[in-house]
Amino acid sequence: MVTVTQQKCACADCVCIVDVDSAVKKAGRNYCSDDCAEGHPKGAGCEHTGCVCHG
Ligand SMILES: [Zn+2]
Ligand SMILES: [Zn+2]
Ligand SMILES: [Zn+2]
Repeated sequence: MVTVTQQKCACADCVCIVDVDSAVKKAGRNYCSDDCAEGHPKGAGCEHTGCVCHG
């Protein structure tokens, strides 16, 4: 039995796929990093290779 446990980070600009079990959770959404979860308040990216999100 295989359960789908991955989904795209809830940050709109982020292309990262996150593991639901280990994702940063906020307001019922799953994010790849604290910066994504907070909406990039400092303008920092998620630091994942190939991703250009900066809020
Ligand atoms: Zn990202
Ligand atoms: Zn992200
Ligand atoms: Zn992001």
